[in-house]
Amino acid sequence: MASIALSRVGKSFGTHSVLSEVDLDIKDGEFVVLVGPSGCGKSTLLRMIAGLEDITSGTLTIDGQRVNDLKPKDRDIAMVFQSYALYPHMNVADNMSYSLRLRRRSKEVIAAAVSAASGKLGLDPYLERRPKALSGGQRQRVAMGRAIVRKPKAFLFDEPLSNLDARLREQMRAEIKRLHAELGATSVYVTHDQIEAMTLASRIVAMNAGSVQQIGAPLDLYDRPANLFVAGFIGSPG
Ligand code: ADP
Ligand code: MG
Repeated sequence: MASIALSRVGKSFGTHSVLSEVDLDIKDGEFVVLVGPSGCGKSTLLRMIAGLEDITSGTLTIDGQRVNDLKPKDRDIAMVFQSYALYPHMNVADNMSYSLRLRRRSKEVIAAAVSAASGKLGLDPYLERRPKALSGGQRQRVAMGRAIVRKPKAFLFDEPLSNLDARLREQMRAEIKRLHAELGATSVYVTHDQIEAMTLASRIVAMNAGSVQQIGAPLDLYDRPANLFVAGFIGSPG
């Protein structure tokens, strides 16, 4: 598990500023949900935590250590995307074990990690299948399995369920909640879905136009929205 802290973090693409002065303290084991309109900088924030995007200004620390310049592979953080981003030419087992094979873990370690993750996610019957022979929900489970096998310090989720239908979304939401209870890993989760935000978050971070509007427990944001933007966003149907 890891604590993640952003201090006055800013991000520009050329002259276009997309995030400014973001302060955020995420505690060990916490489940933080980022909400906000399209284009407000949620994905960019996750990508900076993962190391996939440079930080223009400010400081990012993980477990108290400044990591602004640390390569993604050295951050021990796993990211789960909306698009699944599975390797199409590999079967489910190989998709899940790929990161461990890259890290030259032993066969025994890899087999045990894949078996544990596939058991947790109900993927045992599908280990030999290629992604194209799986449903959307199964693909998203593989994407989560691929993140879990590494036993990362933290998980970053970028709208992981938004391609799924309502019934599957509900099922996967419960699964993510259960996995978090079981693994306890620090999680930062982006969603448009208010029910997801309410049921998963220990704290919600409401963003707009590149800055943080309010941070609080889900009910705090509902009961005491800091401004009209938060009230409107939280109050509107998903
Ligand atoms: P969100 O995930 O909240 O929808 P993003 O983080 O994807 O928002 O994008 C925030 C802003 O940054 C948008 O205006 C987007 O166009 C811009 N942006 C994102 N990535 C890039 C990039 N690689 N180059 C230039 N602009 C980008
Ligand atoms: Mg996004």
